[in-house]
Amino acid sequence: MSHLLEKCASYTRARDARNAGLYPYFLNFDGRDAGTARLAGGHQVVMCGSNDYLGLSTDPRVADAAAEAAHRYGAGCTGSRFLNGNLDLHDRLEAELAEFFGKEAALVLTTGYQANLGAIGGLCGPGDLILIDKDAHASLIDAARLSRAKVAWFEHNDADDLADKLARLPRRGGALVVVDGVYSMEGDLCPLPALVEVCRRFDATLLVDDAHGAGVLDKGRGTSSHFGLTDEVPLITLTFSKAFGSIGGAILGDAVVIDYLRHHARPLMFSASASPANTAAALESLRILREEPWRCTTVAENAAYMRRELTALGYRVGSGIAPIVPVDTGDDLSTLRAWDLLVEEGVYVNAVLPPAASPRLRTSYTAVQTEEQLNRAVAGFAAVRDRVLALPAAA
Ligand code: PMP
Repeated sequence: MSHLLEKCASYTRARDARNAGLYPYFLNFDGRDAGTARLAGGHQVVMCGSNDYLGLSTDPRVADAAAEAAHRYGAGCTGSRFLNGNLDLHDRLEAELAEFFGKEAALVLTTGYQANLGAIGGLCGPGDLILIDKDAHASLIDAARLSRAKVAWFEHNDADDLADKLARLPRRGGALVVVDGVYSMEGDLCPLPALVEVCRRFDATLLVDDAHGAGVLDKGRGTSSHFGLTDEVPLITLTFSKAFGSIGGAILGDAVVIDYLRHHARPLMFSASASPANTAAALESLRILREEPWRCTTVAENAAYMRRELTALGYRVGSGIAPIVPVDTGDDLSTLRAWDLLVEEGVYVNAVLPPAASPRLRTSYTAVQTEEQLNRAVAGFAAVRDRVLALPAAA
C-alpha cells in the first residue's frame, strides 16, 4: 500500500465501534413518514434526529411538486446554471426567496454547503481577512480555507473577542465575519445585535449562515428577521435540506453583490444545477411556509415540550428557542451506549462525537410530530434514564 493510503489501513475508530456493536452512522432506513422511520429489518423508531423542522419533506404537496418537475424537466439538468442547466424554476425560486426573506436578490445553488463555498470563496481572496466563530459549521470553515484569505477564529458568540481581533489583526483588503444564525449542534442563536455593531465599527461585512433559522424563526423569515436586523446583514446563506425538506442552497444579498457572485461563485459555475425535483420541492415548501405559519409555532412548542420533559427526567439539555435540543452524554463511549439504548427503545437521535462537537445526543423536533410520538420518545428516554445517567461521564 502506498504511503498516502497507509492511514486508511490503520484507521480503526469506525471498525472498533462496529465490532463493539456501537456504530451509529450510515444507518439504513427503508421507510419514513412525518414523525417516524423504519430501520432496515423493520424496527420502527420515533424520529428525533431529522432537520425536517416543518415536516415538509414528506408532505404530499411537496412530493407531488417534485414528481411533476421531474416529469416535465427530467431527472437532472446535466450542467451548471451558468451554461445549460438554468431553469425558470431556479429563477422563480430566487425571486420568491428574495421577497420572502426581505433581501434584494438571491442566488440558488445545489446545496447549502456550496452556497457557503460560493459566497465566501467568491468574495474573499488573498489579502482579505475572514473572522469566523469557533463553532461555525464545517462548510463555512472549508469555504474560508479555500478562499486563500487570512483566516482567524473568535470565541463562540463573543462579540468582544471579535472586536479585539478586528482591531489587532492586519488586513490589506476587506474583512468578512462569518457566523451561524442558529448553531447546529447546540441550538443557540448568534448575538446578532452585538455582531452587527462590531462589524459596523470595523467596516467588516457580516455573513450569517441561517441553515437552521430560515423557515423556523420569526414565521420562517429566519434569525436576522427575528432580531429585526435583516437590513443590517449584507449576506445570508440558506439551505433547503432542513426546513424546506429538499436539497439546495441560496445566498441572499444586495442585487449588485448577487450579480457579482453569479459570475464569481465557482460552485455555481462549475457544478450542475439543483435538480428540477429538488428546486420545485423547495418552491412548494416556500409556498406552504407562507400559507401555514402555524408550523413555525408548533415546532417551537414541540421542542420546548421535549426540553421540559427531558430536564424533568434528569437529563442535562441545551436551552433556547430552536428545534435543536442537545442532550449531554459526557464522553464518547457513554454517548454511543446511550444512543444504542435509545434506538432499542424505538427512539432515533443523532450521536455526535468530537471533532464535530463535544460528545452529545443531538435531538431535534418537527412541526408534525404528534403528541403520541413525542410521548413515545419521552417514554424511551425515561426507560433508559437510569442506565444513561449512571454512565460514568454523565453521572
Ligand atoms: N450550514 C449549516 C449550519 C448546516 O448545518 C448545514 C448542513 N448540516 C449546511 C450549512 C450545509 O447544508 P446542505 O446540507 O444544504 O449542504
